[in-house]
Amino acid sequence: MKPVIGLEVHVELKTKSKMFCGCKAEYFGEKPNTHTCPVCLGLPGALPVPNKKAIEWCVMLGLALDCEIPLFSKFDRKNYFYPDLPKGYQTSQYDQPFCVDGSIEVNSKKIGITRVHMEEDTAKLIHEGNESLIDFNRSGVPLVEIVTGPDFETAEDVKAYLKKLQQIVRYIDISDVDMEKGQMRLEPNISLSSDGKLPKYKVEVKNINSFNFVDKAINFELKRQEKILKEGKLPTQETRGWDEKKQQTISQRNKEEASDYRYFPEPDIPPIRFTESQISNLRSQIPELPDDKLHRFIKKFGLTEYDSEILTREKTIADYFEQAAKLGIEHNLSPQQIANYIINKKINIDEILPAALVKAILSTKTVVVDDSKLDQIIEKVIGENQKAVKDYKNGKEVVMMFLVGQVMKEFKEKIDANLVKEKIKEKI
Ligand code: ZN
Ligand code: MN
Repeated sequence: MKPVIGLEVHVELKTKSKMFCGCKAEYFGEKPNTHTCPVCLGLPGALPVPNKKAIEWCVMLGLALDCEIPLFSKFDRKNYFYPDLPKGYQTSQYDQPFCVDGSIEVNSKKIGITRVHMEEDTAKLIHEGNESLIDFNRSGVPLVEIVTGPDFETAEDVKAYLKKLQQIVRYIDISDVDMEKGQMRLEPNISLSSDGKLPKYKVEVKNINSFNFVDKAINFELKRQEKILKEGKLPTQETRGWDEKKQQTISQRNKEEASDYRYFPEPDIPPIRFTESQISNLRSQIPELPDDKLHRFIKKFGLTEYDSEILTREKTIADYFEQAAKLGIEHNLSPQQIANYIINKKINIDEILPAALVKAILSTKTVVVDDSKLDQIIEKVIGENQKAVKDYKNGKEVVMMFLVGQVMKEFKEKIDANLVKEKIKEKI
């Protein structure tokens, strides 16, 4: 049986104001119900005015995910009744979203991005004892929803996708995507196919607020569904929640069909029309993305893929490395030496300026070791001294000093013998 997994991710944008009103969008830790107005409280007669910045950021994210941007799009009302939604509908996008048909590469597999659309966040329900309280500060905060095709087969790939998405969003700098603050929320839909076709059901899992839980929830669901299918039954189409205490998913409600939401065009917001030049202008504002940067660092600076991956995880660190590498070249330090220093010494880039870093490396030049060169020499020495290696493994400890000596002789520069010893031990 083949797992069929798709993903819906909601990301809160860090715009100054909310999606359809002028209230402050930042709500974390604020006194409840202090960022509200008739629009985000859903009072009758209040009219929404769309946030231009939020729409632009949504389109930029779509472009970064290789989406098409239709020149015509619109908002729709998604109707459902729940206390966190005072209007009785969420202003969202249905059949004509801002971004469609994108893709992203994850672990060398192509994952389809069905759509990226814009909507508004709901209010927050707080349950205390027998009471439920509502905080409207979150109501109307700009929310981007990113939907993939049913293209994942493992929890591992899902996790890799989420990390990459988070990284891209941070590079574009449109959200901090802090999961603990609810700025990124994940809903995998999971099913199992026994005949290679799309299954007739899917189970959506909610309440997942960490990468760790996504892994556990998916693997739990796959096992649960496999058991049901093996009994010749079909799992129920439903929404389940992850219960971390019980380490299992729990049924919450039967899943709605799109028709249950009675979507219809938002009459209070005119359709959005883009020009080609507006879209190319937004495209030009997207910075170099992590994958491109990673490959450029390997090509331009001769870094290993491993180091390049670490240095490009965050844009600020990548920028820092690049500045330091430029300065380093003027002082005959190789980019790899700079990279080694930043990675191995876990440099706090907020405390040491690139220039100070270069100075620090220069002052300790003899002990800064080019790891890949050392690795090569150790492998060579091990290869040429198989008998000594065998003797060492058979308990002849003194042989180690011979091997260390050989490596140090080949390395030529001053180097710490203990470091060499540890490295040799690792390798044999
Ligand atoms: Zn408001
Ligand atoms: Mn949504």
